[in-house]
Amino acid sequence: MRRWMLTGNWKMHNTIGESVDLARAIVEGIPGRPDGDIVIAPVFTALSAVHEVIKGRGVSLAAQDVFSEEKGAYTGEISPTMLKDAGCDYAIIGHSERRKYFGETDGTVNAKMKKALASGLKPIMCVGETEEEREKGITEFVIGCQVKKGLFGIEGLVGVTIAYEPVWAIGTGKNATPEQAEYVHAFIRAILSETYGNGRSEEVQILYGGSVTPDNIGRLIETKNIDGALIGGASLKSESFISIIRAVSGR
Ligand code: PEP
Repeated sequence: MRRWMLTGNWKMHNTIGESVDLARAIVEGIPGRPDGDIVIAPVFTALSAVHEVIKGRGVSLAAQDVFSEEKGAYTGEISPTMLKDAGCDYAIIGHSERRKYFGETDGTVNAKMKKALASGLKPIMCVGETEEEREKGITEFVIGCQVKKGLFGIEGLVGVTIAYEPVWAIGTGKNATPEQAEYVHAFIRAILSETYGNGRSEEVQILYGGSVTPDNIGRLIETKNIDGALIGGASLKSESFISIIRAVSGR
């Protein structure tokens, strides 16, 4: 059975002090020893300070992005090795906000995926269709391209997590139904199975993201192919993030 994973994407919120306080409230509120993977992704400037709070406490650290080069004249970028140095085990790659506002493509996502994996940083690769694409009936085509191109040339799936985040559900309060999300998750797993074989595809954690709350996580996590969630808004308050953790723990 796959472990569950809950990743809190704090986006561009919180100073270092506020991030440390939120991280402390989360580690103090976790019920017992977690039987899944709890990950938080603060802003870059808070990574080291948050790591000091969470290390050894059952919570892992993620960056919200990573660059595809090791070092050099790339002003403003940060490498996997630098993120690992700050305490990160994971990096979110290809979030729809990066695709929309910063021009990220499946090609840049693929380069980042390869570099992260080669450096021992575990990528959480985000894919998702827009509302318009869903209305046009091309959700499977869009997701298929994003998954295949994002993973192009990657030989194994060890360390890879995929997050299905329909763009129309992110930050809108309009989450996908468990049936809609499960359909796409099963589709993603079938693509992984075609390329990597059934055994490998069964091991990959596929997260759902898009307006997840303590009220809707229960039905989402009951489905066969939803292994957890990537959570924005509801991860910014320790109470709601902990309620979500409680809802998936021990299942
Ligand atoms: C996200 O940031 O990836 C996200 C899913 O946000 P929210 O939970 O607020 O929709």
